[in-house]
Amino acid sequence: MRLIIVSNRLPFTIKKLKNKIEFKESSGGLTTGISSYLESLKSSSFIQKEHLWIGWCGTTIENNLESSVRSKSLNHYNALPVFLDQNIMEKFYTGFCNKTIWPLFHCFALYTHYDKDFWDSYKQVNEIFCENIIKILKPTDIVWIHDYHLMLLPKLIREKIPQAQIGFFLHIPFPPHEIFCLLPKTWRTEILEGLLGADLAGFHTNDYTQNFFKCVLRILGLEQNLGTIVLNDRIFRADTFPMGIHFNKFFESAILPQTIKEKKLFAQILKNVKTILSVDRLDYTKGILNRLEGFELFLEKNVQWHKKVTFLLMVIPSRIGVDNYQRMKTKIDESVGKINGRFGTIDWTPVVYQYKHLPFHTLVALYNMCDVGLITPLRDGMNLVAKEFLASKTDKTGVLILSEMAGAAKELGEAIIINPNHKEEIASSIKDALEMPYQEQQQRNEIMQKRLQSYDVIHWVEDFITELNDVNKTKTNYNTKILSITEKNNLLKNFKTATNKIIFLDYDGTLVPFFNQPEKTLPDTEVFQILSTLSKSLSTNVVIISGRNKITLQNWFKIPNISLVAEHGAWIKESNKDWKLIKPINSDFKSKLIPILKSFSDKIPGSFVEEKEFSIVWHYRNSDTELASTRAKELLDDLIFLTANMDLQVLQGNKVIEIRNFGINKGIAVNYFISKNNFDFILAIGDDWTDEDIFKSLPPNAYSIKVGLSPSYAKFNLEDYKEVRKLLFELLK
Ligand code: UDP
Repeated sequence: MRLIIVSNRLPFTIKKLKNKIEFKESSGGLTTGISSYLESLKSSSFIQKEHLWIGWCGTTIENNLESSVRSKSLNHYNALPVFLDQNIMEKFYTGFCNKTIWPLFHCFALYTHYDKDFWDSYKQVNEIFCENIIKILKPTDIVWIHDYHLMLLPKLIREKIPQAQIGFFLHIPFPPHEIFCLLPKTWRTEILEGLLGADLAGFHTNDYTQNFFKCVLRILGLEQNLGTIVLNDRIFRADTFPMGIHFNKFFESAILPQTIKEKKLFAQILKNVKTILSVDRLDYTKGILNRLEGFELFLEKNVQWHKKVTFLLMVIPSRIGVDNYQRMKTKIDESVGKINGRFGTIDWTPVVYQYKHLPFHTLVALYNMCDVGLITPLRDGMNLVAKEFLASKTDKTGVLILSEMAGAAKELGEAIIINPNHKEEIASSIKDALEMPYQEQQQRNEIMQKRLQSYDVIHWVEDFITELNDVNKTKTNYNTKILSITEKNNLLKNFKTATNKIIFLDYDGTLVPFFNQPEKTLPDTEVFQILSTLSKSLSTNVVIISGRNKITLQNWFKIPNISLVAEHGAWIKESNKDWKLIKPINSDFKSKLIPILKSFSDKIPGSFVEEKEFSIVWHYRNSDTELASTRAKELLDDLIFLTANMDLQVLQGNKVIEIRNFGINKGIAVNYFISKNNFDFILAIGDDWTDEDIFKSLPPNAYSIKVGLSPSYAKFNLEDYKEVRKLLFELLK
């Protein structure tokens, strides 16, 4: 098995120097994390040892240089570069990725651009990635796509290679439904459908996972059950995997001679002061300006700390060229100048500010020696810096102040957790951190370090891949079995040669489509034509087997020789005979439970209660999908609890909840017919969970067909009621 990592950028950047091409390793959370994992594979027992990284190489490469770049990438980095034109890249990366998705998914709705050209380039780049991937994909490969740049890619690959094993991980937040819906309808639908093309989608926090499911429910109308969505032809799962760091790398690097040397240098300069550190890319989501305001307020309120504390503000250049970033940079420069001008003295600079990349050992030296880590993003998918700061604390002292808006806050509850919008909170947390006793610092850090060490980046990858494998195993069990032409011809041949035949047909969803009002689903002339012609033949018994009540069925199907089964098997009417109960049934429960169902239908507009002779049903097909499905879960809970000691079944079906007597089902009714005669051709067709009882109870030689492309006990699947009618017409020929 080969692991194919796909991300917008490769773990290296290519620089063109006249005619020479230079490869430079690139930094950043995603790259560092996955590279550490791939490095660790060499010594691990995990199965996915072989790997390939696919992504853009960071610059436009002339055609004549492509093949040498490709071969060097493959040989030295196990990487396959995707070549993209600068023009498309501008609209795709600077445009849609960084001016649309990035701000919107971080809930900065006002910064979001909605530009059709950007969207078209986004689609185009996703398609180019797809073409590159399918050229090299082998059947046993696992494709793991990373981040918001490639959200359409899972579906694109799935369309070309339906059996592909595809995982997707989003490294930024998934926004709440009301924010996601600011995207134009087609974009938001295509993005969700794109993601659903994966087998497994991963998010950093449970909130993001829930936001995603909520959007899928509200926009695509698909319900999840324990993190799984059953799609037409397969299953999809989404789950939470908080990304870890390479803990040991940071911990061990903190005591390397190179790091210690750097630390000593800093210590000489920053004598007799406590240090506060922050490290972030230049980005409006990181809350750098709020942090400076908080620090200023702290200095204003705490004169006793003047000349005793220095704030090291490390800002890493990022997305140069995007206007917002430039404006923000200017504001940071001004704010730092203002604070230093206001509080600084000849022998003390309150804010030491640097705008450049930090070499790894310098970063670890800073993490290790600084007393306080001040990390206050306004919104951040995870924030690895917070974790790295803690992992570098070899003596376990130091205090982390962390924004509750960072995904990492969910795992680092022992840090001082603050609201980054509130400068008073930032100011007072700085004071608390600087004055926290060492013993308390060590106690807090020890707990967090243990957590970070046990769920490190290697664990994170292995967890994701294990779950992806698990979904794929489940998927093979769920495979649908479309009735092929050969199988259909066999069925038709057996039907023609048989002398004693029976056909069980469910009604709603099988012979006719679903309508919003069940009473409107009257059989049409085509249905009558099929049923009356079929039942004319003396050798063919036709049984309509439905959940509807007996009066409706009787009024609708006034066809000679046809048999009817009503209320999911409670009532049977053999051809040309009267109705009879399949067994004595009790209906006392109805008076007790109807008021409960009614109280739910009062609260959910569009839902209603249907009373049948021996069962009651709450229908919510016409209601707001999300509201009704939440309420349905509550109702199901209540009913299961209330009926625990009664001989009743509570079943959730296709936008309905039904309560009925135990031991009554369509399967028992089918057995009743089959046991009375020796049939040499049996066919049953149905579309929902109540028909599964039929499929289960049929003898092995019977034909069973599930309508719809979802998992079933039936031997075959047909797409919809139209396909069913087509098949039945062929039986008539
Ligand atoms: N980092 C880096 N170069 C630097 C400073 C930091 O590559 O000069 C790394 C840092 O170690 C961390 C990552 O950049 O792993 C930043 O990840 P984070 O999740 O904190 O923020 P992001 O930049 O992904 O939004």
